[in-house]
This record gives sequence, structure tokens and C-alpha cells, in this order.
Amino acid sequence: MQIDLHAHSTASDGTSTPVELVAEAAAAGLDVVALTDHDTTAGWSAAAEARPDGLALVPGAELSCRWRGGPWPISLHLLAYLFDPSDPTLAGELARVRMARETRAERMVELMHADGIDVTWEEILQDAAGGTVGRPHLAKALIRRGLVTTVTEAFEPQWLGTRYRVPKEDLDVFAALRLVLDAGGVPVFAHPRASVRGPVVPDSLIIEMAGAGLFGLEADHTDHNPEERAQIRALAGELGLVVTGSSDYHGTNKTVRLGARTTAPEVLERITAAGHGSNVLG
Ligand code: AMP
Ligand code: ZN
Ligand code: FE
Ligand code: FE
Repeated sequence: MQIDLHAHSTASDGTSTPVELVAEAAAAGLDVVALTDHDTTAGWSAAAEARPDGLALVPGAELSCRWRGGPWPISLHLLAYLFDPSDPTLAGELARVRMARETRAERMVELMHADGIDVTWEEILQDAAGGTVGRPHLAKALIRRGLVTTVTEAFEPQWLGTRYRVPKEDLDVFAALRLVLDAGGVPVFAHPRASVRGPVVPDSLIIEMAGAGLFGLEADHTDHNPEERAQIRALAGELGLVVTGSSDYHGTNKTVRLGARTTAPEVLERITAAGHGSNVLG
């Protein structure tokens, strides 16, 4: 069983449409794929309709969260599976985060204008095509201008990494856990040790999150080295959390391929048993 529990489509900052994504997942030999776009469920229905026979689809999302309990705020991502997409509180909060992402990206465009970079807000919106706007959309505009050659380069400090970065208005991590659980979903902490993206949270927070209903930790992720993966597995074992692995596929915005990292079948069974807001399709 090949199970990849973290993939993005054009509903957020991936480059494959939900329809293309499920076809690619089947072609990559996956048995199960989770669609986990940032702060949205907009891709669920198209992916479900296009789902090829033999591929199971786990509906999900990746929630933009923040922890403010430390010396400085740390942003973190919470994967949520099998929640009810029509839960009014969760849907309302996701809509608010998506809108704030647009305001934030527009401010980043203004910062670039001030430096004479002629990226336009219209082209960003056109590229996002109604999906959740993220820095990868700005990265592609910088590539179109010939200012950088890859999305990864656009994330360097002199570009979107620091200079033109504006913080996101996201969800408090404990509020997000509550929202997901109340909507029948299963929360898994995405790439908890991905230090390439910025400061990571202490183990003490993960322990607190476990007490607040966190179900699992994503250990096998491209942004974790072998020691980090082992540490996360050990911590998950101590806390009784499941451990997942996934590609965090973003199409051509990243080099990682679908199914590059996978989750064990028994872990998926536990996630499926715990989720009661929506169903695995297939
Ligand atoms: P944002 O959510 O708008 O702050 O953008 C961050 C998103 O960009 C992450 O969720 C990843 O999907 C992607 N990302 C972060 N760092 C990189 C990188 N170095 N190269 C390519 N994509 C990245
Ligand atoms: Zn992303
Ligand atoms: Fe993430
Ligand atoms: Fe992701």
C-alpha cells in the first residue's frame, strides 16, 4: 500500500489541478492520496469526481497556524483530515485566513513596487485563479521577470524569505486544534522540525498539543533530516501519537514527487477510524 497524506493542488499553491493531481497520484502508483491544500477545501469536489478507480482520496487541508506562547511567534502547519467542510465555524475561520492571505500578498507586492519590481497584483490573482494565495505565486512572478530562476531561490532572504515577507494572519494553534476536532477532523502536525522554514517549536508545545487532541506527527518529510525523523518518531511513541510520512507535493513549485514519502496502512486505519466529519472516498 502506497499512502501519501499531504499534497497540494491549484486550490492553493500546487501547480496541478485537483483533477490532474488524482490522475498523477494513480500514475505514480499510489493507493491513497490526501488532498491538503492550504486553508481551503475548494479542491475536494473536483478531485472526488475525477478520482480514478483504485485510488482512495482522503479529504484534508493544511491550516496556517501560529504559536504565541514562546519568546517570539512561531508559524506552524496543522494537517487536518476527514473534517466536515460545511462546519460553519471552521469554514468561516478558513475564509478569514484566505482573505488575510490576499491582503498580505498585496502588501508584499507593494513592498516590491517600492524597490522597483513591477510584479502586479492582477497577475498574482490571475495565477491563483481563486485558490488560496501564497508566496509561491509571488515566486512565480519573480521567475517570469527573470529575477530568480527557481521557486526555491525566490524563498531566499533577499526575496520572499525575509525582505519582502509579510507575516500571515493565521490561526492560534490551540484554536485550530479545537476547530478541527469540533468539525470531526483528525489533526496531524505537519513537518514539525522543518527548520529550513524558520524557527521550530519546542517539544513542550508538542506535548501540550497532544493534550489538546493532536492525533499525529508528520515525521517523514523532505524538510527533516534522519535525526529529526527519529526524534519525532520517539516523541510520538512517548505521547501515543501516530507518525505519518508524505511528499508535501506542490507540482513544479517543488522538486519532490508524489509518493516520495509514505504513511503506514495501520496509521491510515487509525486516522480513518478517528475522523467522522467526512469520509475517505474509494
Ligand atoms: P506562505 O504560506 O504564503 O507563507 O508560503 C509558504 C509556502 O511556500 C509553504 O507552505 C510551502 O508550500 C512553500 N515553500 C516554503 N518554502 C519553500 C521553498 N524554499 N521552496 C519552495 N516552496 C517553498
Ligand atoms: Zn504550500
Ligand atoms: Fe506545510
Ligand atoms: Fe504542505
